[in-house]
Amino acid sequence: MPDQLSNEVLLQAVREYGTPLYLYHAEKIREQYEQLVSGFSILDTRFFYACKALTNISVLKYINSIGCNIDCSSINEVKLALHAGFEPDRILYTSNGIAFSEIEEAVAAGVHINIDSLSNLEKFGRKYGHSYPVGIRIRPNIMAGGNLKISTGHDASKFGIPVSQLSLIESLVKDTNLHIRTLHIHTGSDIKDPDVFVQGMEVLFELIPHFPELEVIDLGGGFKVPYRPGETATDIPLLAKKIKEAFEAHPIAGDKKFQIWFEPGKYLVSESGYLLAEVTVMKDTGNIEFAAVNSGLNHLIRPMMYDAYHHVLNLSNPDGTIKKYTVTGNICETDTFASDRDLPEIREGDILALCNAGAYGFEMSSNYNSRYKPAEVMVSNGKISLIRKRDNFEDLLRNQL
Ligand SMILES: *Cc1c(COP(=O)(O)O)cnc(C)c1O
Repeated sequence: MPDQLSNEVLLQAVREYGTPLYLYHAEKIREQYEQLVSGFSILDTRFFYACKALTNISVLKYINSIGCNIDCSSINEVKLALHAGFEPDRILYTSNGIAFSEIEEAVAAGVHINIDSLSNLEKFGRKYGHSYPVGIRIRPNIMAGGNLKISTGHDASKFGIPVSQLSLIESLVKDTNLHIRTLHIHTGSDIKDPDVFVQGMEVLFELIPHFPELEVIDLGGGFKVPYRPGETATDIPLLAKKIKEAFEAHPIAGDKKFQIWFEPGKYLVSESGYLLAEVTVMKDTGNIEFAAVNSGLNHLIRPMMYDAYHHVLNLSNPDGTIKKYTVTGNICETDTFASDRDLPEIREGDILALCNAGAYGFEMSSNYNSRYKPAEVMVSNGKISLIRKRDNFEDLLRNQL
C-alpha cells in the first residue's frame, strides 16, 4: 500500500516465473530514497540502508547505484555490501551481542562501526585505542515503535548501553583512549511520531559534552510506512524541521556542526515489494470462508510474528463481488495472512498479492514444512528480471550428510 504497479505487470511476472513469487519495484525504492533526501535537505545527513530488511544482492546493487549508503547487522551483511560494490566508507556495522572477532573483521574491512556493549567497547579500546574512530549505541530508555516486539530503546531492551551507565563508558573511554566519533540510537520500528525521534535526541544531547571528538549523531531507522489504506508515513519534512529546531534550541548541541545519520530499512523497501501467491483451496466453514494460498508463514512471517497488517489484492478478479475472506497459507501451523478481509470474490486459481512485502519478507523466510523459498524478481522500467531462482529439491538436501 499504496499501489504503484499495475495488475498487468504483476500477473505478467507470475506468468513468467510462477508462484509463490517475491517482486520488487525498483523505481519505488528510488522514490522513497528521494523522499528522504529532499525531506532532510535542511540538515547535513547521510542515509544508510538497514539491509537486514532485504539483502538480495541485486537490490543491494540497485541501492548502491542510487547513491544510498548501507547499514549492516552482521559481518556477513558487511561482506554482502562489499560484494555489491559499496566502498568501506559507505558501510556501517551496527552490532549487537556479537563476538569481538566480528568487530575485528569489520575493522580489517575499514567500515564504520557502532558498538553496543561495555564489554566489546573495552576490548575495542584495548586493541585499537585512539586509532580507529568508533560509535556507541546508547539505550535512551524511551518507548517507541509500533509494538513491544519492535521497540528497542526502552529500559528492558537488550539493545545499546543504557544511558545510565555513562560514567562507566566515560572511564572506559579515558582508560583506553577511545576515539568516539558517533553516538547512535535506534529506538524501534514503525515510528510515526516525529517527537519520539526528538525525545531520543534530547537524551543524546546530554551526552555530547562528555565526548569532545564527536562528529556524528546517528538516529537509526524506524520510519513508518503506510500498511493499511488511509494510513500515512512518518512526515519526513516535519521530522527534519523538528530535529533542526531541537539542535538549534540546545545550548551545547546548537554550537556544534554534527552530521546526522539515519538507517532506514522498511522506509526504503517495504512498499516496493509484493508476495504473489496462487489460491489453492477455498473452504467455506459456515462462519468463515477461508482462501488458502501456496505460501505461508514460511515465506512471510510478519502477520503471525508481529500481528502485522498486509493489504491483499485479488489480481485476477479485481472487479468481483466484495465478500469477507480469511486468507491463510498452506503450512501445518496457523498461518493467517489476513482475517475477515473484504475482497473481490476469490476462486481457486486466483492470484493474490500481499503488499508491503519488501521489508522483512523474503529475508525472514525459511524452508519450514520442507517447502521451497520463493523466487525473487525485480521490475525496473517495466522490465521484469529474475534476481533469485526458486529453491529446488536439491536445496533441501544441501549440507545434509
Ligand atoms: C533494523 C534496524 C534498522 C532499520 O529499522 P526499520 O524499521 O526497518 O527502518 C535501523 N538500524 C538498526 C540498528 C536496526 O537494527
